[in-house]
Amino acid sequence: MTENIAHLYSAPLTGPQVALAEPATGATLAELRLAAAADVAAAAEAAAAAQAAWAATPFDQRAAVMRRAAELLRERGDTFNRWNVRECGSILPKAEWELNASYEQLHNAAGLIAQPHGHIMPSSVPGRTNLWSRVPIGVVGIIAPWNYPLLLAMRSLAPALALGNAVLLKPALQGSVCGGLLLAELFRDAGLPAGVLSVLPGEADVGDAIVRDAHVGMISFTGSTAVGKRIGELCGGMLKKVALELGGNNAFIVLEDADIEAAASHGAWGAFLHQGQICMQAGRHLVHEAVAAQYAEALARHAKALRVGNPDTETVHLGPLINAQQRAKVGGIVSDTLARGASLLAGGKGEGLFYEATVLGGVTPDMPAFIDEIFGPVAPITAFAGDDALVALVNSSPYGLSAAIHTRDLARGLELAQRLKTGMVHINDQTVNAEFNVPFGGMGASGNGGRFGGPVNAEEFTQSQWVSMVSRPAAYPF
Ligand code: NAP
Repeated sequence: MTENIAHLYSAPLTGPQVALAEPATGATLAELRLAAAADVAAAAEAAAAAQAAWAATPFDQRAAVMRRAAELLRERGDTFNRWNVRECGSILPKAEWELNASYEQLHNAAGLIAQPHGHIMPSSVPGRTNLWSRVPIGVVGIIAPWNYPLLLAMRSLAPALALGNAVLLKPALQGSVCGGLLLAELFRDAGLPAGVLSVLPGEADVGDAIVRDAHVGMISFTGSTAVGKRIGELCGGMLKKVALELGGNNAFIVLEDADIEAAASHGAWGAFLHQGQICMQAGRHLVHEAVAAQYAEALARHAKALRVGNPDTETVHLGPLINAQQRAKVGGIVSDTLARGASLLAGGKGEGLFYEATVLGGVTPDMPAFIDEIFGPVAPITAFAGDDALVALVNSSPYGLSAAIHTRDLARGLELAQRLKTGMVHINDQTVNAEFNVPFGGMGASGNGGRFGGPVNAEEFTQSQWVSMVSRPAAYPF
């Protein structure tokens, strides 16, 4: 049955209406009204007008709105989770994890604004006091993807709002309800003043209009490297602050002394969770040649045990891929890699948008499955000999988001970790890891150096201001 979502909108939008489809079935979940360029302009103007009063609201009252939003998120958990499952093909445990992480983001943001946000700096001018403090940016534009629609909106939204900014949020089209309209309703009910948050569903044109709007002082973008580069260029031209969290092709490393059964279990989780549609997905399994065959056998066994199906009606490990374009891309990379001589150890097929957990053996660095970010449930295995060759293989990718190293020798693991051009490295774990209080982000083509989480949020979503004062004006020579 088509759901009525009209009540979730904070203001009437005037763009086209589109059918929001359920990836698992193709059924229409809701009729979604999109924003038009004029709606973006109106929302940006309203945000700019509302922001100063919101920033001037005492911090404890802003924190109370964040905490109230957190409690409402918990109360409405079933609604958020159900949309996450049906709209984005998430299995329920993944949706539940995302909900809880978003709850923590809200509480973390509420706590963050009670911290000091400046310093008193010494002055060489007698009698002068220098205040150096962080102040809001003004209006922040947030553009989010569909794979973790709620969390990847919330990790920017919660700190940006808490720190006194107004926000324009463009969720991914497929994720507009779970990662957009439900949040508009949530913050409205939590007491956020009108105009401070506008959710603007739409496609690339809506995101582009937000980036270009003169009222918007910062863009926080999470998505593909290709789109991120374009947004980075535009923001550079307009001298806007921009935070880019982009794609990855993450190395899952198994050294010859690793516990192979544990490594295979971790490798399966890192490669196949949420159908591999995660920026931190274990996209390259680099295994020492002495244990490559053993690891491949164990990983294939794990892959073959995973059930694929509709997460709304069955208990499955993998739901559908997000859309036909993504399904075609994943299938194309697998068949091109097989055509170049890799071997199929598990999966490699599926009906409709469903695709089985797939393991490819004998993958070499010139093959598409090694080079590309697949963003699907595919684990390509590449054998290596020696630490120097391993480091060269890992660092050959332009991406540098996450990596994992399995070894019983922690000192060797640590030494290797420090040689990787990767923003996050997990020893004896897998690549898909996020903790709300630890700065998260990538190197190289995975971002522009910004970080999310915990203490760094205070800097990411503010700008600095120096205010000096003396009790009496000094005399200048002229
Ligand atoms: P995407 O195509 O780059 O889209 C991301 C967002 O940007 C969506 O809201 C999209 O709208 C919008 N958009 C597309 N073109 C735009 C343009 N020209 N101007 C402004 N906005 C535009 O990425 P995706 O397919 O949704 O997500 C998958 C990618 O995100 C992968 O590469 C993944 O690695 C990356 N990712 C990175 C992180 C991280 O933290 N580093 C986390 C998650 C995902 P539409 O939905 O309407 O196209």
